[in-house]
Amino acid sequence: MDQMEKKEFQAESKRLLDLMINSIYTHKEIFLREILSNASDAIDKLAYQALTDDKVGLNRDDFAIRIQMDPDRRTITVSDNGIGMTKEEMEQNLGTIARSGSYQFKKDMDDSDAVDIIGQFGVGFYSAFMVSDSVTVVSRKYGTEESWMWNSQGADGYTMMPCEKETVGTDVMKLKEDTEEEKYSDYLQEYTIRDLVRKYSDYLRYPIRMEVTKYRSVPDPEDEKKTKSESYREEETLNSMIPLWQKPQSEVTEEEYDGFYQDKFFDYQKPLTHISVSAEGAATYKSLLFIPSHAGADYYTKEYRRGLQLYSSGVMIMEHCEELIPDYFAFVRGVVDSQDLSLNISREMLQHDRQVQRIAQNLEKKVRQELEKIMKDRREDYEKFYAGFGLQLKYGVLQDYGAHQDTLKDLLLFWSAKEQKLISLKEYTDAMGKDQKTIYYASGDNRTRLQQLPQTEVLLGKGFDVLLFTEEVDEFAAQTMHAYAEKEFKNVVGESTENADENKEEEQALQPALEFISKTLGDKVSKVRLSKDLGSHPVSMAPEGGMSFEMARYFQKLQPDAPLNVGKILELNADHPVFVKLQNYMGSNPEKAEKLAQLLYHQALLMAGLDLEDPTAYTDLVCEMIS
Ligand code: ADP
Repeated sequence: MDQMEKKEFQAESKRLLDLMINSIYTHKEIFLREILSNASDAIDKLAYQALTDDKVGLNRDDFAIRIQMDPDRRTITVSDNGIGMTKEEMEQNLGTIARSGSYQFKKDMDDSDAVDIIGQFGVGFYSAFMVSDSVTVVSRKYGTEESWMWNSQGADGYTMMPCEKETVGTDVMKLKEDTEEEKYSDYLQEYTIRDLVRKYSDYLRYPIRMEVTKYRSVPDPEDEKKTKSESYREEETLNSMIPLWQKPQSEVTEEEYDGFYQDKFFDYQKPLTHISVSAEGAATYKSLLFIPSHAGADYYTKEYRRGLQLYSSGVMIMEHCEELIPDYFAFVRGVVDSQDLSLNISREMLQHDRQVQRIAQNLEKKVRQELEKIMKDRREDYEKFYAGFGLQLKYGVLQDYGAHQDTLKDLLLFWSAKEQKLISLKEYTDAMGKDQKTIYYASGDNRTRLQQLPQTEVLLGKGFDVLLFTEEVDEFAAQTMHAYAEKEFKNVVGESTENADENKEEEQALQPALEFISKTLGDKVSKVRLSKDLGSHPVSMAPEGGMSFEMARYFQKLQPDAPLNVGKILELNADHPVFVKLQNYMGSNPEKAEKLAQLLYHQALLMAGLDLEDPTAYTDLVCEMIS
């Protein structure tokens, strides 16, 4: 015993463990799924090594997981012959929370959510503590001589001890005493375990074996004409070992697909959909893809790793194969299994592999078609999905100089000022009348403001629809696409070309007033002109040149040192009473006319969503004018 070391859990682990130990979660049975999945992962790692390392000396058929129950000691034992752990790895892996899912858990969960998460998503090894009050792990890392025993009886800490051992990895769980609510001893029953394995772990690729009691009939020694039943013990494989993606779709239930996804890809919500592909011919492979229903907290961060799991004849050769799915569909999770691929294919080879390229093209098409279908048939679900991944799709339009816009354009949704809901570009153009030539959009950070822009109001008044772009990327995406169904995108605020000539004459007559305002505002504006697009509003601010204020602001954020100055054009409504008043004051009270010019300028800034240079001066001015 002198070699025993006592250690404490890392704080987060302690909290998670406490949750497990005191869990009121009713489906504690999922602990077995978690332990079996760890065993399978450990075998995966060694099986992978065996491909390139003859010294491993194990064939696929040699790998197995074993379950044993001991009713007298109240223990259930799960053993595997996988990669094993060194002493350091045991401390690291079992003493701290490492897995991505649990990481989430520790970051943004409060204890009341715990019950939900545990069930749907599992929390790995620690779930053993839901059913067990003493957990022992004995392990020897492949290729080393030392075995270590890890034991913990609760959140206080754990002990480590060197030990003798032949098999590589064993988890022993001593079951808690039965209570009125929970009969832990059920887990000592063969049929319970058999059912649980079938329910949760059937697809694991290695046999899960258990010695079970069987019966056969033998001649009755007392009466030779009769037979009697005799029991014997025999090892049985409990799981079918057929991975879900190898099974025909008709044989897999929706629950199984959902469960597989949630378990394998650590999501606590069901996926939006799954796509099952079985291809033969130019590329022969099976694939099972999932489109998540929401974006996880890490999706838009560096932590997120895209790519599909790549299997070659049932052996996983890559966890995140990025070559199989394009960037703009980075949210897609899943598996590709192809016997055509060499087992030790390298990253570099993958990039140029024709097979892989073919598979990737095909999968991209499937994902696009599926999303288009969901947008049509399950609009509400699609909008939820779009709330999380719409941004990704829109950035996809920009990527590679717009090379993927045809794939993506029909997956986009934008807010319609007319319909007051999200609509697709097809829906927009289908609803366009003959007299409307362009797709109108207004861009800014706030839907309400865009809805109330004078230009928006005027267009809506004419029966035209305006798309409200509230994300930075929206306008870039529109500019990259340039047009949809041959209809060009046009910012409602901008150099108005349509009635430029019409305004010329009127401008001539009002030239002195325009010059007066221009002189008053100095270089704050680059131009002052009349506009017919303002409806009942007195002013508006338009950007000079092709770039909108929103885009300029975006570039400014990227390069704060080199501010990009877009000229401001003050547009005035000649018919508005304020403008008329300003003209009247020009002769009688020029000081007041100047103040009106300032007021109009500031209002235009506000409506365009631009910053006021001096908000205090502006409010003072407003108060002064009122009084
Ligand atoms: P996860 O399996 O999601 O990574 P767990 O908490 O279940 O999280 O397990 C933590 C880690 O402990 C695993 O990633 C693995 O490295 C290690 N581990 C658990 N069980 C075994 C085992 N039977 N053999 C080898 N390593 C194991």
